[in-house]
Amino acid sequence: MEKATVVVIGGGATGVGILRDLAMRGVDVMLVEKRDLINGASSRYHGLLHSGGRYAVKDQEAAKECIEENTILRKIGKSCVEASGGMFVRLDSDDPDYEQAWVEGCKVSGIEAKHIDLDEAFRLEPRLSKHVVSAYLVPDAAIDGFRMSWQNVDSAKRYGGRLKTYTEVIGILKDGDEVHGIKVRDAFSGEEYEIGCDILINAGGGWAGKIAEMAGLEVGVQPDKGTLLAFNQRIANHVVNRLHKSSDGDIFVPHGSITILGTTSMSIPDAEDTSTSREEVEKLLSIGEQTFEHLRDYRLLRCFAG
Ligand SMILES: Cc1cc2nc3c(=O)[nH]c(=O)nc-3n(C[C@H](O)[C@H](O)[C@H](O)COP(=O)(O)OP(=O)(O)OC[C@H]3O[C@@H](n4cnc5c(N)ncnc54)[C@H](O)[C@@H]3O)c2cc1C
Repeated sequence: MEKATVVVIGGGATGVGILRDLAMRGVDVMLVEKRDLINGASSRYHGLLHSGGRYAVKDQEAAKECIEENTILRKIGKSCVEASGGMFVRLDSDDPDYEQAWVEGCKVSGIEAKHIDLDEAFRLEPRLSKHVVSAYLVPDAAIDGFRMSWQNVDSAKRYGGRLKTYTEVIGILKDGDEVHGIKVRDAFSGEEYEIGCDILINAGGGWAGKIAEMAGLEVGVQPDKGTLLAFNQRIANHVVNRLHKSSDGDIFVPHGSITILGTTSMSIPDAEDTSTSREEVEKLLSIGEQTFEHLRDYRLLRCFAG
């Protein structure tokens, strides 16, 4: 039987990060992914390397983690990060009290939020709505999830880490309460076989609850789905966030020559569901055009969900 000291289930951002980290520490580690790499949320996402600004009011612990990780990723993952910077803008229809709470939240969380006057804001982002009444610069950035994951794997392989794609975990092997391996199915040949391990890591994202079930464990995971829109050009130079209580469709992330607007959010029974609907597209456009009034003039390339 094939063996590894540690087996990691799931080839998303979490799994590939663990694979690389363990391989660099000299641990004999193997990652198994049921489809191709980053089949889950790690590619069907917004690609925002958060400064933490989005969480500065409602979850300051998360905000602090964001700014710490943001700083690390800019150093060790330079080629995956587009350091565009971010701008938070409040519209005249948004609650001014929230702005004060947000400024305070950024301070407490260690996020540099620099207030700029409106002339400067419109100079930096000429397409912004004239309803913008307040603007701040933050260290948001864009991150390429595909490149980041593949580079993690390439690096892990150089340290001896192993990867099997199109290999679905269909069972967890136990001796009493102790896990000693997994049963997998090859997606191409249909062959089923076992892989032994001392430690098993569940990095299954939205599928983590189902994976835990295979070991007879109950982990409460409620998958959540969000829809995003990709436009055919850069609408903004910065990541532009609406400065109000976090809501749907309020962030524009420029990636290279396109812009991604998102996201909606809804609970779904099964993480496999990546469907989108016309209603969600319309909702995103309606909210988005409050920040960029001419949004509907841009060509919509595609709509996707994760
Ligand atoms: C719409 C949306 C937008 C988002 N935007 C952002 C953003 O801008 N910035 C940000 O930081 N975060 C964002 N997130 C959150 C971020 O995408 C997730 O936190 C992150 O991708 C989770 O990574 P993961 O590796 O844990 O899970 P996933 O990327 O979902 O990986 C899980 C993997 O496990 C595999 N798997 C499942 N079952 C099995 C099995 N039985 N056998 C083998 N493999 C299996 C799946 O195929 C999948 O590849 C967003 C999320 C969504 C949904």
